[in-house]
Amino acid sequence: MTTNLVDCPECGLPATVRGDGPARSTGGPVEHIRLHCVLGHRFFGPVTTLRRPPGGA
Ligand SMILES: [Zn+2]
Repeated sequence: MTTNLVDCPECGLPATVRGDGPARSTGGPVEHIRLHCVLGHRFFGPVTTLRRPPGGA
């Protein structure tokens, strides 16, 4: 099982990203994900908003 980790937009600590299932039928082509950081911050939105561009340190 693969777990994606990103920086929490709130505190910058590692956060777990989970896909919230297919939402193409109503939301459009943008995949929505759920982010849950180690401190309990929760975010939900388009993956493009939370995903950081490659090439960063
Ligand atoms: Zn956080």
